[in-house]
Amino acid sequence: MTDLAHHIKITPLVDTHEHLLSEAEYVKDGPDVLQSIFHTYIGLDLITSRVSKDVADRVIDSSDPDVEGRWNCIKDAWEYCRFTSYGQAARITARLVYGIEEITLDSILTAAERNKQLRQPGERLRLLREVANLDHVQINHHAWACEPDLSGPEFFLYDISWVEFCSGQPDLKQLYEETQVEVRDTASLRQAMAALFEKYGGCAVAVKAQHAYDRTLAWVERDDADVEPVLQKVLRGDEIDAAERLCLGDWCWARGVELAAEHNLPFKIHTGIMAFNSTMTDPFRLQSGNLGTILARYPDTRFVLMHMAYPYTDELVGMAKNFPNVYVDMCWGWALNFRAAVDFVRQMIHAVPYNKLFAFGGDTFWPAQVVGYAAQARDGLTRALSAEVEEGTFCEAEAIQIATCLMRENQMACFDIENKQATILSQLSAKNG
Ligand SMILES: [Zn+2]
Repeated sequence: MTDLAHHIKITPLVDTHEHLLSEAEYVKDGPDVLQSIFHTYIGLDLITSRVSKDVADRVIDSSDPDVEGRWNCIKDAWEYCRFTSYGQAARITARLVYGIEEITLDSILTAAERNKQLRQPGERLRLLREVANLDHVQINHHAWACEPDLSGPEFFLYDISWVEFCSGQPDLKQLYEETQVEVRDTASLRQAMAALFEKYGGCAVAVKAQHAYDRTLAWVERDDADVEPVLQKVLRGDEIDAAERLCLGDWCWARGVELAAEHNLPFKIHTGIMAFNSTMTDPFRLQSGNLGTILARYPDTRFVLMHMAYPYTDELVGMAKNFPNVYVDMCWGWALNFRAAVDFVRQMIHAVPYNKLFAFGGDTFWPAQVVGYAAQARDGLTRALSAEVEEGTFCEAEAIQIATCLMRENQMACFDIENKQATILSQLSAKNG
């Protein structure tokens, strides 16, 4: 092993994006071995290979005790999917977490006992911190509430979800329950949003929106006067059309971007490919270039553009080169296309100052999967930087320094992690005291 490979192996990696369930949910309703290996995301490739969605869903249904039946209906399709990057990650998870060298019915059944041990309290944190060797994880739990997580207050950090606002579909009833602000007009909606940030901004590590699943990433500036009639319709319970929803969404998105800057929180945005099969009917709306208007309008907000905007990776490199307020996050990227991700690191190094790139996020629900995704990312990062050393771009010592930045230092700075952890601990002791 080279010094570079060794360094990448032992350096604690920052994980900027997961959807991990809570400790209690993991222990109570966590995955069996099949679910742990095949969800997420290899089931999507199984569907692409022509397995039906019902079959792909059955494989990851832990409530079905017929492991043999579940495995048998995908074992032929798995053969075709082993070498996709989702397949590669699933194989790494099987090997590192369950000691499975080849995924077969026997090896899956043998690993069931091991999985039971891994579903004990504390094992989720141990897998992530010790086996995956992560510094901390940033979790998008699809909610506004960000509070100290008792299962690891400095380790499990949370994003404030802004997706419903950006999509123009805020839940005003729940907003009232959270803030005690009754929304009557744009002015009070502003107040309610500010109250959410007052309440949760201290513990939150970032704001996150994956509204690219619902609407275009292209943003247009909207005045209060444009939005007021749309909001009044929503308050009366009237239907609003797509254009009105976009108007309300743009306005709410901008308020979130302003509040993020006020509270020193980066704003994370899903860019590029959609996870679910047969959904990319309008792929151009997913491109990072659509974000130019909002990036230019809010130079003081740190925007984190996620997933390498795959497959529009070159465009993202260009946007990151052009906008000082853009950070690029490779979360999910290694698993989408390992080869493209290796190349992406190299493209970024040649085009953009290397303090702007974050190497890893697994984007999954289960800690065992994170182990596989993290090992896959380390392998890819080693290959990318070794190739640059080979070509003489920099020496190995410099590659080691760059690796440290991409794996942790860049994220620690952008998300202000030390201060964040101190805030969380002080909120926790205030609560207990
Ligand atoms: Zn995600």
